[in-house]
Amino acid sequence: MSDKHTIMTLSEQNSLLHFDKENVWHPYTSMSEPLPSYLVESAQGVYINLASGEQLIDGMSSWWSVLHGYNHPKLNTALQQQAGKMSHVMFGGLTHESAINLCEKLIRLTPEGLDKVFLSDSGSVSVEVAMKMALQYQHAKAEINQQTLTKTKLLTVKNGYHGDTFAAMSVCDPVTGMHQIFEQVLMQHYFAPAPSIKFGEEWSNDDVSELSALFAAHHEEIAAFIIEPIVQGTGGMRFYHPEYLKVCRQLCDKHDVLLIVDEIATGFGRTGKLFACEWAGINPDIMCLGKTLTGGYITLAATLCTTHIAQTISEGAAGCFMHGPTFMGNALACAVANASIDLLIENDWQAQVQAIETILTTQLSPLAAHHRVEDVRILGSIGAIECRQSVNVANIQKRFVELGVWIRPFGKLIYIIPPLIINEKQLMSLANAITVVLEEDSCFINN
Ligand code: PMP
Repeated sequence: MSDKHTIMTLSEQNSLLHFDKENVWHPYTSMSEPLPSYLVESAQGVYINLASGEQLIDGMSSWWSVLHGYNHPKLNTALQQQAGKMSHVMFGGLTHESAINLCEKLIRLTPEGLDKVFLSDSGSVSVEVAMKMALQYQHAKAEINQQTLTKTKLLTVKNGYHGDTFAAMSVCDPVTGMHQIFEQVLMQHYFAPAPSIKFGEEWSNDDVSELSALFAAHHEEIAAFIIEPIVQGTGGMRFYHPEYLKVCRQLCDKHDVLLIVDEIATGFGRTGKLFACEWAGINPDIMCLGKTLTGGYITLAATLCTTHIAQTISEGAAGCFMHGPTFMGNALACAVANASIDLLIENDWQAQVQAIETILTTQLSPLAAHHRVEDVRILGSIGAIECRQSVNVANIQKRFVELGVWIRPFGKLIYIIPPLIINEKQLMSLANAITVVLEEDSCFINN
């Protein structure tokens, strides 16, 4: 342990951590028996500096969001310059250069046809917005055509994750998404089996037979189909065959169903394409973006849709889309998002992702032979090791910290998704730490 970053005394640290433990909710953490939290003092580049003195190489990009590292001078400057002008103004009746520039960039970079942008606060909210857009579109369309509205449900696949708010939760996997707790209040949608043919495996149409049958049987009730393109992230870092997504597009076209792709985790280069739906060469009707949008600096999300959807909604009796968050188009968030996207292009993100993928492949693939490992999966800057046992989160986390890395496994998965600026030596340290913990019984639960 070194004290080079520490400015807090041990008693100050303990008092903060005590209050945190007693009073502060953490994600998916019990309040009565909380998992330990580590106090962060600062972060710089790929390093997270703990108040206790340890410097950790970040393998998580703060849940997939950091691209260019922490405390980046260009991102800091963008924030400071924007704060010097204004941090926020309401977006009703007012607009500003940072939001306009960001929307222009998003329209230019995303697949063709996505020409209208709705800015919102977080990934989950952007999914709420996407679902509402699809439902309001179908409502307006029925109204304009003087037909009875029947398309009021969504179709999705099992094992998906789209956020924690209610509409988003209703299209998360029914088991891991905790549908049983909220059964009485959740909207009911249709679920197809999860895609089973892996990225890189041989394609067979068998993988879409149940999905096709569900479309055929229920298309009159289905407003939209929502899916995470290529990577089912929270559902276990499963990478599926691009052909599956192509067929989804065809089925949506055939049955007059809108296609929503949730690129919140996969957007901005993570999988080796700027957007994961490019692997299948498809253009969605609606796309959700979040996480990396601001390079991990501030929460911001965007829902993009086609002109046809926007026009239909606007021609309905409501005359507008019924959503308008207070912090819509927040200027600080838009300014830093613009700077982050500029950096992505400047830094040659493709070369960065390719370099990470090559090292992950050499370092992690051999672990597939380990007795504790079920599977190793690598795509772009994502490396996932599926173990045969669940991890003991508290113990494995403690060991990772001792080994100088920040990796947060869940369930049976140890995965890394580092900031794109990580170098070879730092990546090797992450891989070495994983190799070490795989040898340690205390890091796993016997099940
Ligand atoms: N969709 C996907 C695919 C995600 O991975 C996440 C976040 N893990 C969300 C939606 C929700 O985003 P947020 O946590 O910003 O609400």
